Amino acid sequence: MMAARKQQPIEGAQWTGIVSAIACEMLEQGLVEGVVCVQNTAEDRFQPFPVIARTPAEVLAAKVNKPTLSPNLNVLEQIEQSGMKRLLVIGVGCQIQALRSVEQELGLEKLYILGTPCVDNVSRQGLQKFLDTTSRSPETVVHYEFMQDFRIHFKHEDGSIEKVPFFGLKTNQLKDVFAPSCMSCFDYVNSLADLVVGYMGAPFGWQWIVVRNQTGKEMLDLVRDQLDTQPVMSKGDRHQAVQQSIPAYDKGVTLPMWAAKLMGVVIEQIGPKGLEYARFSIDSHFTRNYLNLKRNYPQKLEQHVPEYAKKIVAQYKLPE
Ligand SMILES: Cc1cc2nc3c(=O)[nH]c(=O)nc-3n(C[C@H](O)[C@H](O)[C@H](O)COP(=O)(O)OP(=O)(O)OC[C@H]3O[C@@H](n4cnc5c(N)ncnc54)[C@H](O)[C@@H]3O)c2cc1C
Repeated sequence: MMAARKQQPIEGAQWTGIVSAIACEMLEQGLVEGVVCVQNTAEDRFQPFPVIARTPAEVLAAKVNKPTLSPNLNVLEQIEQSGMKRLLVIGVGCQIQALRSVEQELGLEKLYILGTPCVDNVSRQGLQKFLDTTSRSPETVVHYEFMQDFRIHFKHEDGSIEKVPFFGLKTNQLKDVFAPSCMSCFDYVNSLADLVVGYMGAPFGWQWIVVRNQTGKEMLDLVRDQLDTQPVMSKGDRHQAVQQSIPAYDKGVTLPMWAAKLMGVVIEQIGPKGLEYARFSIDSHFTRNYLNLKRNYPQKLEQHVPEYAKKIVAQYKLPE
């Protein structure tokens, strides 16, 4: 693991563009013939449009998150038809789990997988509800992220940044926007990818890199000379913040904005940082999802929840 950022960030990327940079290098150096990635449709910047990019320009056209469910595996048939033998797939955990299960059927000589962590994805309508209830100007949002300072940062078309504290979210109205698949997901960190690039385990402004195997190392080495890096750090204790998040999610508690802002400031000062922030985010989502399964799909609970997630959940007191 390490924290990294591009010395020269790619303008308009989600963070500094490490994902796009690796994909471009892999094409340019001939390691792969194509890259499965997610562009947007001509009409809607947030409507995902999965493609097989064959040039760096097509990869760069896919930069920035389309924070909605994307049917990435629809392009698998095209891979078989194209006769490609070497492929890079960029994707979130559920896409990669499905891909791994059919990997042997694709007739590839080499498959590289560049993953991102992912949580709380939504349908396009769900995203609109989130933007409409949370941002001061939903139609001009070009990019947003749930940041390590416990605020959502919305970037608008004019370049301005709007910050809304997590604790001020209208959770009572937003309870149903998350996709049912995300409410039962325990693969936040994309464990089947070769290399994972996120942000939540890194200091603010940096990206968080997890190299999972030799293939992932090979991929990261392609851009090492374009990166500043530093070791990961960890500070604080997440447990209390996670415990408090459980009833907040469960009951849809919404604080008045002044209290939410105050809480955001306090928690930013004393709250978990670096890897401990990542653990906060993982644990609070795993407890929420475990509770969701326990209440709505009790017959599937035992078989569906992986052992590592059960260990995480066992650290907290859950309501009935
Ligand atoms: C839906 C979603 C949720 C995320 N949640 C978290 C999180 O909770 N914690 C965390 O640390 N990181 C999360 N990430 C990863 C993080 O936001 C950045 O994508 C990552 O750090 C890469 O940044 P970058 O600047 O290198 O990416 P860029 O160079 O801008 O490239 C972004 C890549 O994302 C791909 N992409 C865009 N939309 C989708 C989609 N809907 N499905 C699959 N792939 C897509 C594109 O193909 C593109 O190649 C999430 C990413 C997505 C797509």
